[in-house]
Amino acid sequence: MTPHVTAATVKAADRAHVFHSWSAQALIDPLAVAGAEGSYFWDYDGNRFLDFASQLVNTNIGHQHPKVVEAVREQAARLCTLAPGFAVDVRSEAARLIAERTPGDLDKIFFTNGGAEAVENAVRMARLHTGRQKVLSAYRSYHGATAAAINLTGDPRRWPSDTASAGVVHFWGPYLYRSAFHASTEAEECERALAHLADTIAFEGPQSVAAIVLETVPGTAGIMTPPDGYLAGVRELCDRHGIVFVLDEVMAGFGRTGRWFASEHWDVTPDLICFAKGVTSGYVPLGGVAISAAIAETFATRPYPGGLTYSGHPLACATAVATINAMEEEGVVEHAARLGEDVLGPGLRALAERHPSVGEVRGLGAFWALELVRDKGTREPLVPYNAAGADNAPMAEFTAACKASGLWPFVNMNRTHVVPPCNIGETEAKEGLALLDEALTVADRHTAS
Ligand code: PLP
Repeated sequence: MTPHVTAATVKAADRAHVFHSWSAQALIDPLAVAGAEGSYFWDYDGNRFLDFASQLVNTNIGHQHPKVVEAVREQAARLCTLAPGFAVDVRSEAARLIAERTPGDLDKIFFTNGGAEAVENAVRMARLHTGRQKVLSAYRSYHGATAAAINLTGDPRRWPSDTASAGVVHFWGPYLYRSAFHASTEAEECERALAHLADTIAFEGPQSVAAIVLETVPGTAGIMTPPDGYLAGVRELCDRHGIVFVLDEVMAGFGRTGRWFASEHWDVTPDLICFAKGVTSGYVPLGGVAISAAIAETFATRPYPGGLTYSGHPLACATAVATINAMEEEGVVEHAARLGEDVLGPGLRALAERHPSVGEVRGLGAFWALELVRDKGTREPLVPYNAAGADNAPMAEFTAACKASGLWPFVNMNRTHVVPPCNIGETEAKEGLALLDEALTVADRHTAS
């Protein structure tokens, strides 16, 4: 007989046996979740949370979408698994649906289990295609927690796993609010960021650079929408030097920015696109790389030296097919675009006017960041970069205030990101903004004014 499940039994087994990611095991107290639907999840004590984080920015169509749940059920009953070497109806269909949405001639799909493996394989493809080793990526980025992906990452999560032999060189991307280039306009920031990248390539030796890997819109690092012209400029540098341009759309893709892929906003076609998260709304793990014709051709008669037992897993591919079809039928991508323009953008800008702690609001679609600061004039962050313990108290208090009010926030360093499901209703989104409004008064107490 199944034992009676309570928050206490779930937590006890968790604390005894589950080893959690990114955590000091003895210092965490994970919430025991009893269920979830749409934009909400709840615990065993009847506390309900509006998920303004979409879990880890992946439940793009919310929880328990009935069409996707049904597709998982049907596929599980029909055929749970097959090795990657077979042609499988749902794998073929998922690849077709994805390839139809990627830009340019990125028409071949290599499937992985998630984002980091997508990045690993994109880098492998770029190195083999060019015969070069070095890879350039940006500070203020996250690309995953496996070997190449964590070395590409440009934030403190890389530090404990840094390997000097990884062949990665970091550069600064555009971020006007905290410009590395002392720029004062978006145009200036764009021009100087491109000049800095051109210099980095020149001094690293263009003939040794296999790839430039960039998040189209950097996600966890702060949702810095690139200035017009930046991605086109990177494309031009890659073309000039025979470098493979990899866009990491693991977080920004599949509707998050109000387009299927964020690169559409700037009309830029990279050579490889990494995707994961929203492709299945996280219901079953899936990621992949969309590959250009030229790179696919490299492996036409030469075997591609990479693979995974679960590459193109039927259950995951059936989930992707159902997710993409549901998003199409329900206009989820267009909804996310409108949500950004009509509700989240204006609502968050109004919060910035009212709250001394909100230094900047930026984003698009269902992908927004608020920079919390001690002083709007100096832009001093509410907590120092990578703060821990007492230094992080203002952000910890803000986070606790959100949760106490029933809002589940996404928090990173001195920022809170507003990244609800792309299909969140307008009423729910406004409810979330009202809860955020309350919680920001806690952050305001730590400001200079
Ligand atoms: N790339 C980006 C931009 C991400 O945001 C993430 C995860 O947050 C990853 C890669 C890694 O994906 P995964 O955790 O599925 O390996």
